[in-house]
Amino acid sequence: MSLKITDDCINCDVCEPVCPNHAIFQGIEIYQINPELCTECVGHFDVPQCQIVCPVACIPLDADHAESREQLQAKYQRLTERAK
Ligand code: SF4
Ligand code: SF4
Repeated sequence: MSLKITDDCINCDVCEPVCPNHAIFQGIEIYQINPELCTECVGHFDVPQCQIVCPVACIPLDADHAESREQLQAKYQRLTERAK
């Protein structure tokens, strides 16, 4: 399942550089997460790095993009293959 950034985002910029998949980007008003690139950090870290650093805790799971751990692992593998 991808994560998403809610309207509580204060544009503090700290989450974007910690994402190992470059899934976080500045949207028109607040930061956003590309669900095609977010793996919940599976493959890179044990816990979502963006959630750890966000000072206002505005990055919940996105129920609209439900994925199993196996699917997230497969996505990680696709993304790292593409990066080679
Ligand atoms: S959970 Fe990990 S991969 Fe997903 S947006 Fe946050 S830092 Fe990036
Ligand atoms: S860390 Fe949280 S508040 Fe800061 S830009 Fe990212 S989502 Fe927004």
